[in-house]
Amino acid sequence: MSLEKVDALVVKSVDYSESSLILNVFTREMGKVRGLAKGARRLKNPFETSLDLLASIRLSFIRKNSDALDLFTEAKLRRRFRPTTRNIRGLYAGFYVAELLDFSTVDYEPDPDLWTLADATLERLQFRRNVAARLAYFEAGALNSLGEFPSVRHCVDCGEELPLERVTNLGRRVFFDVSSGGVVCSRCRASKPHYGLTPTTIGALKVFDVSLVGSEKTLRTARTLENWRRALEEETTGLCSIDKLEREEQTRLAFEALDDETLTPYESFPYEARVAYRELVEKYICQVLRRRPRSLDQLPFALARPEKPTEEQTSVEQTSEAS
Ligand SMILES: [Zn+2]
Repeated sequence: MSLEKVDALVVKSVDYSESSLILNVFTREMGKVRGLAKGARRLKNPFETSLDLLASIRLSFIRKNSDALDLFTEAKLRRRFRPTTRNIRGLYAGFYVAELLDFSTVDYEPDPDLWTLADATLERLQFRRNVAARLAYFEAGALNSLGEFPSVRHCVDCGEELPLERVTNLGRRVFFDVSSGGVVCSRCRASKPHYGLTPTTIGALKVFDVSLVGSEKTLRTARTLENWRRALEEETTGLCSIDKLEREEQTRLAFEALDDETLTPYESFPYEARVAYRELVEKYICQVLRRRPRSLDQLPFALARPEKPTEEQTSVEQTSEAS
């Protein structure tokens, strides 16, 4: 048995007995860890009510040598996951990130890049802007870390290049083989039978493509922010609170400018391409995980599609129902 201290994200929480919880956490240093938090449901406890789903915490635990659950002994909150009011998109996207992490990570196999990407994604999903873009970047990063990022630029069968840049018609139909993980060229499709090919569009493939670059950029900006925060802490020690607030505000604005730049590639795609991407990525992720995250049932309405039908759409629907 050894005592460990790690940065962790709570990805699953189940009540266990009247006073305790069983938790799955994804840690920066040790990958997934499952453990028992005794007394966590009591009013007074060593976890300071920091064990909510998706909380980012500093966790101490005793690693058991046998198959038994590890024992969580103490936790300090770094950040709660609390999306701003009316940010239903961010909320469900967060639940989905939790499930993806829980299903795709392995006990005691660290993946610090994925951890940093997840932590940064969750921090920013709390705000209402650009939820779909952040999620697409996270999906790309998660698939990449599993070694399952699909082949979108080359035929998955013969390797022939699909000149993504040169095809400007985003709505052009192409076929994607979900089980082999990539696009299939027309020659391969004609020359041998493929079962269960998914029709999709060039637009969806392009969104996939920019999302991988986006996930790498998000990771870089997340590291930059970590460095800035550390520097800010040192710089502002001893400053009066007004100067300190001003420095914090400057940092925040500088970071937002950097962050917006990261999001532009996804945001520049039209609505139809994003919808086609969501349909494809969800099908593909279910195949990779060999199960369907439950949070996906809430997600479609929450992402590429508008949150509520506009008045115009509603009246069109009513007219067509009446006729
Ligand atoms: Zn081919």
